[in-house]
This record gives sequence, C-alpha cells and structure tokens, in this order.
Amino acid sequence: MKTKTQTSTITLLLLFILCSITINGHDDHDHDNITSNGWQSFKNLSGCHSGDQVNGLSKLKRYLNRFGYIPDSVSNYTDEFDDSLESALKKYQLNFNINETGTLDDSTLDQIQRPRCGVADIINGSTTMNSGRKSKSRGNINSVEHYTFFPGTPRWSTGNSDLTYAFLPANNLSSTVKLVFARAFARWSEVTTLTFTETDVYSDADLTIGFFVGDHGDGEPFDGVLGTLAHAFSPPDGRFHLDGDEQWVVDGDVTTTSLTSAVDLESVAVHEIGHLLGLGHSSVEDAIMFPTISSRSRKVQLASDDVDGIQLLYGSNPSYNGSSTYTPSSNHERDTSDGAVGVTIVRDKASKVSVLFRSKTSYKPRFMSDLNAQIPTAFDPFAEANAEDSGAGSKEYVHVRTQQRNGRKSLTTVQGLKKEFSYNKILKDLKKEFCCNGTVVQDPELGQVIQLQGDQRKNVSTFLVQAGIVKKENIKIHGF
Ligand SMILES: [Zn+2]
Ligand SMILES: [Zn+2]
Repeated sequence: MKTKTQTSTITLLLLFILCSITINGHDDHDHDNITSNGWQSFKNLSGCHSGDQVNGLSKLKRYLNRFGYIPDSVSNYTDEFDDSLESALKKYQLNFNINETGTLDDSTLDQIQRPRCGVADIINGSTTMNSGRKSKSRGNINSVEHYTFFPGTPRWSTGNSDLTYAFLPANNLSSTVKLVFARAFARWSEVTTLTFTETDVYSDADLTIGFFVGDHGDGEPFDGVLGTLAHAFSPPDGRFHLDGDEQWVVDGDVTTTSLTSAVDLESVAVHEIGHLLGLGHSSVEDAIMFPTISSRSRKVQLASDDVDGIQLLYGSNPSYNGSSTYTPSSNHERDTSDGAVGVTIVRDKASKVSVLFRSKTSYKPRFMSDLNAQIPTAFDPFAEANAEDSGAGSKEYVHVRTQQRNGRKSLTTVQGLKKEFSYNKILKDLKKEFCCNGTVVQDPELGQVIQLQGDQRKNVSTFLVQAGIVKKENIKIHGF
C-alpha cells in the first residue's frame, strides 16, 4: 500500500515531466511536432456504429452539436451510439461529400479531426451546406451551387460598400502580419464592388480583427493548437477572432515546414472574411468557404462557388473578368522593403492596396510568433473595450454591448456608469424590470460592470435614459 507522501511525490514528478515536455515543445519550432489536438482522440472511435457503447462518443456528440449537427434540444450526451448520433453523422457526411453510412468510417473520422473554422455548418437547423441546388448563374445543368448564407441573409447595406477594418491594438501586430489580411481582403474586393480600408480607430471600424487565447468572452472559447482556428460573426457584427495559440505562418511556403501544426494565416483570413461579408459554409472542397483546412496547406484563391455566392449578395465588380488577376506577373516590382526572397508586390488600382505575392521560389516560412505579436494570455473581457476607450472623449460614454454567437446564449454588459450610482440597485431594477439574471463584476481598471443574461441592449438603454441615469447621446450601443 502506497503512503500519501509517495503518491504525492509521484504526482509531482509526473507533473514536472509533463510541464517540461510542454515548455520544450513550445519553444522550438524545428523540433516541435505537435500532432495531437483535442480531436485526434476521435480516431479511437473508428468503426463505431448504431447500438455501440464506446468511451468518447459523448465528446463526439458535443462536437457535432457545436457545429450544428445535433440540435441544442438534445441534452443527454451519453457514450451510446443512438439515433440522434446516426442522423447527425449522415448530415455531416452529406455536407462533406462522404458516403452517407451513418457510421464512423475512416473517411468521416479523417474529416472530423481536421482543423476547422469555429462557425457552425448548420445554424439554427435551417441552413445546409449541400442542398444540391442546381446552379442558375452558370447555365450549366451539371454544376451545382453549394454556397450558403446566414439565416435571414444578412449583408452589409448597399450604402456601405466601403468597409473599414481595424486590428485589436493590444495585439500590436507588425506590418507583415497586417499585410496578410490586406491580401485576403483584396481577394474579395476583386470580384465585388466592396472596398476595404484599414483604420486606426478601432471603435469606428466596420470590421475588427483580434487574436485571442482560450475563453475570450463570446461563448466560443478557443482550444489551443489546431482544433478550431478562428471564427467570425455575420453582418453587421464585424468581429473576426483568431486563435492566438496556433502556429500561424505569415509568409513563406507553409507546405515546406516540418512543423505539422503550422497553419497558413492568409488561407484562414480569406475564409473568415467570407463570413464577415455574409457567406456561410460550402460543401465544395475547393471553395474557400469549405469548413476545414489541413495544417501545412494553403488555399487562398476564390473558387467559382465563392464568387457566385458573394456576387449574389453584392453584385459583381465590372472590371472582374471571371478569373483572378492575382498571380505573379512579368511586370511586377521587386519588394525590397520586406526582405523576404521571392516576394513580389502588385499594385491593384481597384482595391487601392498593395498586394504581396509569393513567387514560385519557396523559402523558409516565417511564423507570427517570431514577430513579437502580443496575444492576451488569459481572458480579458475588456480587451476590446479598452481599445475603444483609447479614442478621444470616449471615456464619457456608457457602453452597452452584447456578446453572442449564432443565436446561442448571449450576455449584455453595461460599462462606464458614473461611480456615484449604486450598481447593485440598478442591477436589481434591471433584473426586476426584464426578468433576467445578472451580476455586477469588478474590473481593476474600469471599476464596476453590470452583466445581464440575454441581449438586453435596447431594454437597458431605454431604461437608463428613462431613469435619468444617462443621457441618450452618451450611450454607445455596440454590435448592431
Ligand atoms: Zn467558416
Ligand atoms: Zn471569439
């Protein structure tokens, strides 16, 4: 029989070994080959079918629920291979062009384990990636369109085709990283009349881009290396979040790296911008809007499915001739400022941005982690709010915002009320008035913040004005 001390010593030793592995693995790119991620364990479910009882099926059910294949109404996530799992798998297989066996065959598990976008494939049970609709625009009965939109087909209004974007100031991104996003935006502006311009004023930008780690306050926590890579909100929300734990490649040939968890930043950026503009996922594997992307791979060219989808929302760019002009050409200028070999700059008149291209010469990939970007290491619910407060005079405002994703649970926060007010009294009144749960949290810098369940922005704002607590012009409502 082991004594308590012996057990503790062994535990400590194990912990020490585990920590050493993690630290060493994180510091050295050349020797770091992280192949395991949260979803790799699904491979143990190979061959499972209806009626089986296998450890790990409950986790798979939560995965399928997260991406829309099992409705929220199903709440018992047992390890039993039940009917709801079988029907979810058939839907998944249809969307990913896999034989609809309803069992966990190898091609299904292979797809499930791939890194992917955090946006659900089926939203509110109403969208499907693989409707099998016949394409109208191509005039070809054999071509099938698979692009989708978010429920209600939200899009940026016709009066707002010149969109601005800003980077979360706390990330302190280098110009090399920002250029990756500029290139990604250019892919979409080339085929539409939309334009994208970077602005320094985070609070005024239509689209905001930020790297976060783990739980970052919107109910969709990131999960470390691989797994979900990024997510973005449908119009007119404009938020685009990336997992700061990924080994992002910002430049160079991602396919040549020995690091198996390397992810091409531009490929993911082009995809997420599609969401920012209103596109859902597509079942066309070559399409940018396909939900998964393997690590060490690159896909930045819009497929005709992407082009058809975005042009249905925004119309086409008259100067777009049906094929991308974004390929290295003979009259390109050599980029000397960047210092990287084999990179060319093409100046694009339509989108008014300089676009960096790789030539066919491959060179060592550069990782974002080498560029001194600052990723918040823990959940800071006020990271975005602080960024907005840097604007002149914005400290006078009371900020009312909601955090919501795909119709799931949402949270309303009220920040910036004068300190003289009793927050607990206001909270009590709000809870009574709108029959919702809530709490007051203390932030070291911002002081007290009221949190309420549900999207209560309109209710709260009206209440604060009518109660004489804040003037209407001093309320900033976010997220509309
Ligand atoms: Zn996506
Ligand atoms: Zn997020």
